Amino acid sequence: MAKPLIICRDLAITYNKGKSNEFKALQGVNTDIYEGEYIILFGASGSGKSTLMYAIQGSLPPAEGTLLIRGDDIYSYPPEERVYFQRYVMGIIFQQFNLIPSLSVLDNVALPMIFCDADKTTRERRAQSLLDRFGVGHVSHKIPAMLSGGQQQRVSVSRSMVNDPKILLADEPTGNLDSVSTQQVMDKIDEINTFDKRTIIMVSHNAAHLSYAHRVYYLKDGFIVREVVNPQRKQIKPVKEGETIVTELEQLARLYPYDSVDTLRVKSMTNYLTQEYTFDQIIRLERSLGFLIAGKVDKKAFIRSLILPYEKGGVGMDEKTAKEMADRSLNIIKQADDIRRFRARQGHDTLFFNQHQLAERMRDHLLHSHRLTLSKKQDENLVELIADRVTGVAGEDDFNESLSKGVTTGGLSLTEKEADSLTRYFEKLIAQGVDVSYKS
Ligand code: ADP
Ligand code: MG
Repeated sequence: MAKPLIICRDLAITYNKGKSNEFKALQGVNTDIYEGEYIILFGASGSGKSTLMYAIQGSLPPAEGTLLIRGDDIYSYPPEERVYFQRYVMGIIFQQFNLIPSLSVLDNVALPMIFCDADKTTRERRAQSLLDRFGVGHVSHKIPAMLSGGQQQRVSVSRSMVNDPKILLADEPTGNLDSVSTQQVMDKIDEINTFDKRTIIMVSHNAAHLSYAHRVYYLKDGFIVREVVNPQRKQIKPVKEGETIVTELEQLARLYPYDSVDTLRVKSMTNYLTQEYTFDQIIRLERSLGFLIAGKVDKKAFIRSLILPYEKGGVGMDEKTAKEMADRSLNIIKQADDIRRFRARQGHDTLFFNQHQLAERMRDHLLHSHRLTLSKKQDENLVELIADRVTGVAGEDDFNESLSKGVTTGGLSLTEKEADSLTRYFEKLIAQGVDVSYKS
């Protein structure tokens, strides 16, 4: 199996080390970035995104931990070799373009080639062809100040590609651009990833950009707090068994990028359990559910808080609904815990908890919640389907289709409506059970 192109292990970066203003900008960072990936470093301003990018670029040596690129510690290179690396392995684009104002656009792009053997004509020809490719060939003899921001950034994109780098780094490249120019630049960077097969590491705090990436590392206060896989892109990094399921949590994480896994879990569950309540009631319910999931209240206290009239700080539900909701919530929590335990054991030992046992327990739960009675063969098929779905062998659609397939072909012969309902419920269980938080 291919090794990661970039490996960070327990990486820490400290500014002003040993001085009174020492500042730990990154701590305990672990990443594996594979060749051909498009990675976004995402997070609020000051979270350490640029610091991580410049560490990878070779200009911020680690205070602790390891940083390997193509298996090498670039900080152990002699100076000439590091410069070679920065010039030919990495290309870089900045928010502020960083073009040389007194040089023509063509010369700006040709400049980084000055250190290679090619003669002037060859260098200019290559620069011009890149400018043409990125849609700014017609302004190659102007100086940068005569170009719009979007054009200048496309000049920087051309320049970053001139030495044919393996890895393209971009620090908020659209931070200074209007929406039309942003789209053009994002499309060009996307093309460099999908067409030229270059590895991209982009710093961004624009949630609208996340869909371009294979994976997103969320940074907060110098830590990577979460790693989210984009289900819309075919993954390059090997996905561990059991993590292949596109969870509702992941979808929610894309919608609410700043939320923690716990709040997302509460949202997903509330979303499922409620449809007919007001927004204010739902907020109260979320709070109570949060307490229940965290184990801070027991079933009785949970029910009390649901029944308590709205004016008195409760949700204002009727007693029957509240009790049902408590039962269903606790059931889901229990099942979700089972899945989590199962996932945590995968790859270690299966002595204590095997897939089959889990699948059987989930089958029992599904049958009970849907008041289904199955034949022996249907029952066996369901256990198989559950196991396949939980390990990621089957997708949601596969699971759904199989439910309405004939019993002899591995299905359950359910009606389409029954199959849909069962699938929906099961996906909720899985969503609750999958932890997308970053594990080092
Ligand atoms: P981001 O790119 O996510 O906005 P940075 O990586 O630039 O964040 O910065 C992370 C933290 O490190 C911030 O609190 C910032 O103030 C601090 N920092 C960045 N550069 C320096 C520096 N040269 N000296 C001291 N502190 C710095
Ligand atoms: Mg920054």
